[in-house]
Amino acid sequence: MKKKIVCMVCVMAVLLGFWGCGTPGSHTKKDNRLKVVATVFAEYDFLRQIGGDVINLSMLMLPGADIHTFDPTPKDMKMVQDADLFVTVGGESDAWADTIVESVDNERLECVRLMDLVDEVVEEEIVEGMEVEEHGEAGDSRGGGEGAQEEDSEVHGEEKEFDEHVWTSPKNAMQIVEGLCGKLSQLDGENAHLFQRNAERYLKKLERLDQKFIKVVSNSKRREIVVADRFPFRYFADAYGLKYYAAYPGCSTQTGASVETIAFLIDKVKEDRIPVVFHMELSSQLMCNTICDETGAKKAQLNAVHNISKRNFDKGIGYLELMEKNVDVLREALQGQ
Ligand SMILES: [Zn+2]
Repeated sequence: MKKKIVCMVCVMAVLLGFWGCGTPGSHTKKDNRLKVVATVFAEYDFLRQIGGDVINLSMLMLPGADIHTFDPTPKDMKMVQDADLFVTVGGESDAWADTIVESVDNERLECVRLMDLVDEVVEEEIVEGMEVEEHGEAGDSRGGGEGAQEEDSEVHGEEKEFDEHVWTSPKNAMQIVEGLCGKLSQLDGENAHLFQRNAERYLKKLERLDQKFIKVVSNSKRREIVVADRFPFRYFADAYGLKYYAAYPGCSTQTGASVETIAFLIDKVKEDRIPVVFHMELSSQLMCNTICDETGAKKAQLNAVHNISKRNFDKGIGYLELMEKNVDVLREALQGQ
């Protein structure tokens, strides 16, 4: 698998070479703004809040796409080739970003990983009832598309076990915003005061969001949520002291849960009288539908802000707005008991 991704990158590098030399018209750059490329939406939105129009910001993942099966194209490589700053998650699902960085010829390129901006990264956790993928040493039985196979080839290192969804906790989001603001200020000193002002304003909003979650949890007796989906909410759950049950840990690319997993979650919902069962954004919702049909629980979306739908993106909706909706659905889900 490793060979495969290396080959793919070689082809891209060659294409890039041709592209770079063959289109002189494209070099008439008048935009002197700092060029910043983000891999996923959460990063993109934080950078947008801090940098506004002062930076030239782009995102590799198109709205609506799934990061877990993403394949970078020569066009994506070109964007990084021209960038001043490349912001990545630094985990399993955008491991391909490292390969891009290694293959582009861009000496001024600075890279920042979200996982390096937070105080603590934790390992993916397997809780009771969760379906565990088999990560064999010699081979891997994981299904999924080519993207999933390429991810696997890159992740047999140390970081494999760590949960990359650091941004799902607003407390972490604050640290991330501070870190990104620092980096932008370092790279574009002239506009540092502006970045800092924007960041301060945004941090206040994140603080208010954090307070809302704290209040929702402290006003509820229930401390337990059920997510009939993947579970990228470990940092979120830890931040607010929530116990959770889910079908798969972290960034699993599995889609069909076993009968045992579904049966476990159904029993749990019935036993604990869970009023709301969650699915994550851009999910098939199939498992959630089954569990809600069986139990009478209400279905709701808990948004991990992995990516955003094209419609919401066009409306300018961001992390804060999506998280505000999480406040409402969490309040409902923690009712009773
Ligand atoms: Zn993920």
